Amino acid sequence: MGPASERTRVRRHPERADYDRQAALAVLDEALVCHLGLVDGGVPYVIPTMYARQGDVLYVHGSPASRMLRTAASGLEVCLTVTLVDGLVLARAAFSHSTNYRAVGVLGRAVEVTDPEEKMAAFEALVEHVCRGRWADARRPEPKELNATKVLRLDLTEMSTKVRAGGPRDQEADLGLPVWAGVIPLRVLRGAAIPDGAAADLTTPAYVFEYSRPGWS
Ligand SMILES: Cc1cc2nc3c(=O)[nH]c(=O)nc-3n(C[C@H](O)[C@H](O)[C@H](O)COP(=O)(O)OP(=O)(O)OC[C@H]3O[C@@H](n4cnc5c(N)ncnc54)[C@H](O)[C@@H]3O)c2cc1C
Repeated sequence: MGPASERTRVRRHPERADYDRQAALAVLDEALVCHLGLVDGGVPYVIPTMYARQGDVLYVHGSPASRMLRTAASGLEVCLTVTLVDGLVLARAAFSHSTNYRAVGVLGRAVEVTDPEEKMAAFEALVEHVCRGRWADARRPEPKELNATKVLRLDLTEMSTKVRAGGPRDQEADLGLPVWAGVIPLRVLRGAAIPDGAAADLTTPAYVFEYSRPGWS
C-alpha cells in the first residue's frame, strides 16, 4: 500500500495506523462483511454486503436493482470499510473503555464488471471468499444468472488500516481502584453444520466440518 494518501492518513491515534499492505490484505481476507458508503443525491448511506478480494481488487455483487450497486457504479467516489472486532476492553474508568479491532477503509471509484470472463472470476472469488474449496463443488453460474447479477470492482489503491490491541489504558490515578479491568477477547466461532434435505445422506465436505477463516488459529 505504501504511504497513506492525504485522505487515508490516520490522524486520530496515528500510532494505531498500519500502512503495511499485507496487514490490510489479512483483514480483508479474514472478514466476511464490508460496509459500502455512498452519497446518492446528496443523501449519505452505508450498506453492509459481502465482498471478495482478488489480488489488488475487491468485488461486490448483487441485484442489478440494488440502489447501492447502481449508485456505486455511476462513477461516484465510494468508501468501503471492513471491521474485525477482537475484544472488549474494560477499563477501571468508564471513560477509558475501548474495543480491540482491526479495520480497513478503502476509497475509490467502483467500476461495473462487464467482461464475462472477469465476471465469472469474480463469482469464483466471492464463493471462495465465503468458503474455500466450495467453487469446485457448486454448480457454475448459468448465463441468465450472470445477467441477473451486477458485479463491481474497486481497486485497492487508496486504503488505510487501523488496529487497536492490548489492555486498558487507565490513568495512573485509577490503577488502584478495586474495579476489575482487562480484555474480553471475542471471536467468530463455527457451529455444527446443518445439512439441507438430501444433503444429509451425502458425505460432509472437509471445508464444512473444518470451516475456518484465514487468520484463525
Ligand atoms: C470496532 C470499532 C469501534 C470503534 N469505536 C469507536 C468509538 O466508540 N469512538 C470513536 O471515536 N472511535 C471509535 N473507533 C475508531 C474510529 O473508527 C475512528 O478511527 C476514530 O473515531 C477517529 O475518527 P476520525 O474521523 O477522527 O479519524 P481520522 O484519523 O481523522 O481519519 C483519517 C483517515 O484515517 C482512516 N481511518 C480512520 N479511522 C479508521 C479506521 N477505524 N479504520 C481504517 N481506517 C481509518 C481513514 O482513511 C480516514 O479517512 C472504533 C473503531 C472500530 C473499528
